[in-house]
Amino acid sequence: MHNIIVISGPSGCGKSTLIHQLLAEFPELNFSVSHTTRPPRPGEVQGKDYYFVSASRFARMLQEDRFAEWAEVHGHRYGTSLKEVRAKSSKGRTLVLDIDSQGARNIKRQFPEAMAVFVVPPSLDALKKRLLLRQGKLDREARQRLAAALKELSSYAIYDYVIVNDKLAAALADLRCLYISYCRQTARNSDKVKKLVRRRK
Ligand code: 5GP
Repeated sequence: MHNIIVISGPSGCGKSTLIHQLLAEFPELNFSVSHTTRPPRPGEVQGKDYYFVSASRFARMLQEDRFAEWAEVHGHRYGTSLKEVRAKSSKGRTLVLDIDSQGARNIKRQFPEAMAVFVVPPSLDALKKRLLLRQGKLDREARQRLAAALKELSSYAIYDYVIVNDKLAAALADLRCLYISYCRQTARNSDKVKKLVRRRK
């Protein structure tokens, strides 16, 4: 059984901060490092934030069926490799994927036991403000991200849970609760109980 948590949300909803904090709290969690054709932003590290690859390398990987899922987002390709899923989502390890709704849909199709969480902003005004803060101005990229964010929001129905990220501490508490509930699912703990049942006989 794979242990997979998908966390999505429109650009500017604060999901990256939430993911970082969750990972810092639970060492058994592993971040899924995606491949992307997007160029690195200042401070991003190859192999830690993403595997930054050329368009031709990404196309070759696609041809070789090496992705569990992939999508085109904001004009660049992003994908989760099968290697990443296999290496980091079994034997007591849990994989956390920061992917968009197209990817979330594909992962849920292949791994129905995955938990998919959708992080949303408290209001559209708050989202606009956060995007503006990030970009500095409402330029073409910020406008594109805003349009994509609105489209992303309409995909909410594929997720198992929704977290409204108004105050970071409250949103993190929600995410922590969801993770703990996920760990306590019967399917993930049946071995422990089976042992007790066997001893009783
Ligand atoms: P950014 O360029 O801001 O890092 O990411 C843009 C969007 O791409 C985000 O919504 C992020 O969740 C999504 N993304 C990142 N990696 C993947 C991936 O491997 N697959 C899919 N489907 N989306 C991804």
